[in-house]
Amino acid sequence: MAHIAQRRFGQNFLTDKNIAKKIIKQAEIADNETVIEIGPGQGAITVLLSEVAKKVFAIELDRNLIQGLEALAGVHRNISIIPGDALKCYEEVVRRIGRDPYLVVANIPYNITSAIIRTILTTTPVASRVVLMVQKEVAQRMVSKPGDMNLLALSVQLYGDVRKCFDVAPGSFSPQPNVMSAVIEITPHKKNNISEMDPEKILSIARGAFAKKRKLLASNLAETTSHPKSEIVEILTRCAIPTNARAQNLSVKQWAQLCEELESDRT
Ligand code: SAH
Repeated sequence: MAHIAQRRFGQNFLTDKNIAKKIIKQAEIADNETVIEIGPGQGAITVLLSEVAKKVFAIELDRNLIQGLEALAGVHRNISIIPGDALKCYEEVVRRIGRDPYLVVANIPYNITSAIIRTILTTTPVASRVVLMVQKEVAQRMVSKPGDMNLLALSVQLYGDVRKCFDVAPGSFSPQPNVMSAVIEITPHKKNNISEMDPEKILSIARGAFAKKRKLLASNLAETTSHPKSEIVEILTRCAIPTNARAQNLSVKQWAQLCEELESDRT
């Protein structure tokens, strides 16, 4: 059942059992919880998940891996293999889970990191916890704080609390990736506790402001919104944001407040 890893599927199989166990421990899965795994590969963490979870839905895109995974599911009867693209069928799997509490645990293909996190965080009812192996540099960007904020950090932190749990070296995988990895945990907010505003609306405004990072936030907003610069300056002052701030200086709360003001002042 030798499988040649496919670069186009982002295949770096986890071979280090201790790391697999550490991921399971990190997820603190209760026996009434269902787990969605994205990209189970050869099942390195799938079986461990099935031993502690009520049920495991494992979504795998590579057809060549399905047979091996089905064999595992034959032995561990609480595993269901879903063949397909996680970006397309995640929502359907959540619907199948119904009202049961569920979480996401996965060593994901790094090339779909932002898209899959976006899918996970915008699908309701939302996962109670999300434990993911990602590229270390991406993990670091996600946990950025004001002064060093970026669009990825904002897009995750608007939906939940995120922290980096531990690093994983390339030697823990086969084939070895060219980059360091890290496990992150996102705890999605139960209710939108940052703002009444739709996070997607905030992100669409922020996207314009982050586009030209070297420029002042006020200048970017004057270009990308319908407000003249003088009004932007007024709004920034109302939000207690320095008029010479740049996009990366704002906290998530400040982004929310700023966008609320920009919307309510719309002419
Ligand atoms: N979780 C396994 C495999 C990690 S490699 C392990 O830790 O060993 C990433 C896996 O994601 C591969 O099996 C790859 O085929 C799968 N994959 C890639 N793109 C996918 C997608 N869009 N949807 C679901 N699975 C995908």
